[in-house]
Amino acid sequence: MKILFLDQSGKPGGAELCLLDIAKPYQHTSLVTLFTDGDFKTLLEKSNIPVQILTNQTIKTHKQSNLLQGLTSLSQIIPLIIKLTPIARKYDLIYANTQKALVIGALTSLLTQRPLVYHLHDILCTTHFSKTNLHLAITLANRFASLVIANSQASQTAFIKAGGNPNLVQVVYNGFNCQKYQIADNITQQTKQQLEITDKFVIGHFSRLAPWKGQHILIAALAKCPPQITAILVGDALFGEHDYVQQLHQQVADLGLENRVKFLGFRHDIPQLMATCDVITHTSTSPEPFGRVIVEAMLCGKPVIAAQAGGAVELVAHGKTGFLVTPGNIEELAHTITQCYKHPENIIAIANQGRIRASQKFDLQHINQQISQLLHQALNTD
Ligand code: UDP
Repeated sequence: MKILFLDQSGKPGGAELCLLDIAKPYQHTSLVTLFTDGDFKTLLEKSNIPVQILTNQTIKTHKQSNLLQGLTSLSQIIPLIIKLTPIARKYDLIYANTQKALVIGALTSLLTQRPLVYHLHDILCTTHFSKTNLHLAITLANRFASLVIANSQASQTAFIKAGGNPNLVQVVYNGFNCQKYQIADNITQQTKQQLEITDKFVIGHFSRLAPWKGQHILIAALAKCPPQITAILVGDALFGEHDYVQQLHQQVADLGLENRVKFLGFRHDIPQLMATCDVITHTSTSPEPFGRVIVEAMLCGKPVIAAQAGGAVELVAHGKTGFLVTPGNIEELAHTITQCYKHPENIIAIANQGRIRASQKFDLQHINQQISQLLHQALNTD
């Protein structure tokens, strides 16, 4: 099958890392087109997946943009569609992986009569999107998509609640190469030495730095935990949240936690870093559409404490395969971390169950088979 994948981002967020795994089996017949240059292109090239950057301009429709802003960006959208249309004619199917990709993909699908698949990685609600953008996404998906792949039941429910056609949408979770998350002890010891965290009880947090990812909640909770506990924060501000980064550093200084918090920036060695942690936390203050980091932590055999909302509740069974805490509740998070520190023997079985469950439920091969079946159906129904 020849697929034209579309993604707006040059940066490797969760949706892009998911696309990397989905596009891989189609690498000899397909093309990924990006609307912006960046690290994601390099990752695709390293995986030998053909990639083309469509423009050196970024399309300026923000998640919260209004109709006027939407219309001014038409001047950027039209040249993209003109460029994309002859390319799309060489492929069987258009696969839009982000919202802006949906806009471009829908119009290109109309012009080329190629079926459109929309992979929904967001909870479509007014917390994250303007009413205009929400309406646009739903209208385009209903009108042009043959299939909407939702990354969780939470994303599916929000899509339907916002007016999305229930007959179009199927839930497929992200898939993971489970072997990648088994790290040898000697590598873990080396990494711990490099990070100077040997003999520490380490809490890991692995998300881009953004207010709704709630790194400030973890820092505040850490201040209430025993002083032997330290934290590593892995990730960077991918979408311009530089003020938040400054706030986090200020918060660490104000709480006198300089020796207990390490900011590691964006890293490509997530499994190796997760292996150095005793507990991994997820602290999003808004519902997480899926939460790749939660699954990755489970695959590493680490006890995970996740914010109880959105997709996270589909990934973790509280007290069986991990822990769920109230989003934004600092006291509860501090208490759960402290319990893990004081009773490490109690969390071994939970972490083990988490690893087993995650490797059954999110196996990449199985997930890619599901996607392949759905794509064949989408192709045949058009
Ligand atoms: N990630 C990464 N390097 C970092 C921080 C995060 O590669 O420094 C990866 C992380 O392992 C996960 C993805 O980025 O696979 C984030 O996906 P998630 O669903 O957790 O959040 P999103 O970015 O989609 O909101």
